Amino acid sequence: MVTAYCYYCDKDVEFTVKEIEITSNLKGVEINYTAKVPYCNECKNEIYIAELDDENIKKANDEYRKQSGIITIKEIEDILSTYNISGKTLAKLLGWGQATIERYLKGITPLKLYSDELKKLQNPINMKKLYDLNKDYIGEQSRRKIEIALKNILNSNTKKIVNVFDVAKFFLSKVNVEIGSSITPLKLQKLIYYAQGWHLAFLDKPLFATELEAWKYGPVSPELWREYQSYNYQEIKKIDFEPSKIFDIEQIQLLNEVYDTYGIFDAIGLMKMTHEDTPWKEIRKTHKESERSSEIIPQEKIREYFKNLKEIFNIQEFKDIKKSLYKYRDILGN
Ligand SMILES: [Zn+2]
Repeated sequence: MVTAYCYYCDKDVEFTVKEIEITSNLKGVEINYTAKVPYCNECKNEIYIAELDDENIKKANDEYRKQSGIITIKEIEDILSTYNISGKTLAKLLGWGQATIERYLKGITPLKLYSDELKKLQNPINMKKLYDLNKDYIGEQSRRKIEIALKNILNSNTKKIVNVFDVAKFFLSKVNVEIGSSITPLKLQKLIYYAQGWHLAFLDKPLFATELEAWKYGPVSPELWREYQSYNYQEIKKIDFEPSKIFDIEQIQLLNEVYDTYGIFDAIGLMKMTHEDTPWKEIRKTHKESERSSEIIPQEKIREYFKNLKEIFNIQEFKDIKKSLYKYRDILGN
C-alpha cells in the first residue's frame, strides 16, 4: 500500500492520482499539458509528492521547449543514442561544463543559443565536423564508439533496405518495464507495419523488403511471427541494440516517432487500428471475419495509403505522425 503525507490530515494517507489538464504561462509562453496530481483519499485535498511534482515540471518544461523551438529532452537523448555518446563526452566536445548536458536531460531548459548548437548536431555532417575539431579532448574508448556510429550513419545515406528482424529489435530495445511499456508478438507486428508505412510515405522506399500478409489479426510478417512465436501473448524481453549500426539518422528519428505514436497502445488497440486501414481492409473484404488467410498486402497499397494519410493530416515532419491518430478517434475512445 502506497501512502504519502497529507498536510491537512497531518499523517500518512492513501491517495489517488488524477490527470489534470493544465494551462499555464511559462516565461511568456502559454503552454498546455496533462499533470498528475495526487489527492488525499480522506480529506480530498491535493497533497505534495516530490516525484510527481518533478514529473509535472519536466512535462511543463518539455511543452515550453516545444512551443518556443528549444530542443527537447527527447531530442537530446536521440542525439546521444544516435552517436553512441554520453552527455559528459558530448559536453567535452562542445567545450561546455561537463554537467551541462546532464542538467538539460534532468529538465533544465537550455538557452536558445545552446539549444541551437545542440540542434545542429542532429545533422551528422555537423557532428562529424565538431568531432574532428575536438576529438583530442575525449577518451580513446569514446572516440572509437563515436567513430563507428558516424561511419555507419554517413555511409548509409543511400537508405539500404534493412531486414525486418532489425526493425523488430529496434522496438524491443525501447521496452521500459518501469513505465509499464511492453511489447508482445502481436504488438510487434503492428509496430513494424506502421514503420514500413511511414517509411514508404516519407522516404518513398520500403524500410524492409519482407512482404506483409493480411492475417485475421491485421498485417503480419510471417517470418517475424515465427521468430517470436514462442512468446505467444506474453511480453518479449527488452534487448540491447545499437540502432546506428543498422539505420541512418533519419530512419532512427522516424522509428522513434513511430514508437512514440503507436507504442502507447496495446496489441488489441493497435489491431483495431490496422483494421481501419485500407490496405488490410480491402484484402480482407473477400474473406470471412474468422477466416485465416495469408494473402499478401501489396507494398504499393501500403505506400499509397500512408502517402494519402500524410496528405490528409498535413503531416510534414516525422513528429506530425501523431496527427494521423485522429483517424482512429472513434475506436480509441476519449
Ligand atoms: Zn488529507
